[in-house]
Amino acid sequence: MPLDILAIAAHRDDVEQTCGGTLLKMSQRGQRTGILDLTQGEMGTRGSSGDRAREAADAATILGASWRRALDIPDGRVENTWENRLKVASVIRETRPRVVILPYWLGRHPDHYTTSVLGYEACFLAGLAKLDPQEALNQKSALKPKALEDHGPTKLAPHRPFKIVYATLYYDVRPTFVVDISHQFEQKLASILAYKTQFSDQEAGKDLFPAHDEIRARVDSMARYYGMLGGVTHAEPFLQKEVGLVEDLLAIPVKSI
Ligand SMILES: [Zn+2]
Repeated sequence: MPLDILAIAAHRDDVEQTCGGTLLKMSQRGQRTGILDLTQGEMGTRGSSGDRAREAADAATILGASWRRALDIPDGRVENTWENRLKVASVIRETRPRVVILPYWLGRHPDHYTTSVLGYEACFLAGLAKLDPQEALNQKSALKPKALEDHGPTKLAPHRPFKIVYATLYYDVRPTFVVDISHQFEQKLASILAYKTQFSDQEAGKDLFPAHDEIRARVDSMARYYGMLGGVTHAEPFLQKEVGLVEDLLAIPVKSI
């Protein structure tokens, strides 16, 4: 069954922080949402990738996501290579989302901004009729078992999402729209705190990670800031490259004066 919305991010817990409330809201409206994490978090200061897999599954449940998968791209080394684009393009064809959420294309962490460009280019590749990403990946893998060569009826049809939007929370850029998550805020916070190895108070990495109360305060402040821009209590920021299309001037939300 195809997804309505697929959020793609570099690390487990990125989606929770940047657009978790939005995914929850869409799932509450009956839409099928999914999360693709490009890495498994093996470079994290705290916890193993196994811990993070369990925590990611808990967080997905809290957000009402129907689908979640982590690729095997090395943590801290997300690169926009042909092979990585094929991996993401395969997932786009498999899940067939109408909307893809990507990270914004500027930022502090190279994995984040690289995921933005990699994700966009993978969406493009996924729509090329003459490209079979799975077959191209198999050709790259020298150790591949013979049986995998014949993809036969499992070949996935080309697919391109209708819409790509960028989650901008990690970067100081003015969003083009915000999503009201006032009613989803507490569950968004719970999905972040589901990463217990990362966000519970502990000795390891305590100079790197904020204490539990501080996390709540930060997540709340950010959501309130973007909420204020939209005239609501809590919101998450997004940017779209396209212009907005308006049918009725009287129905445009957000007060001017
Ligand atoms: Zn991250």
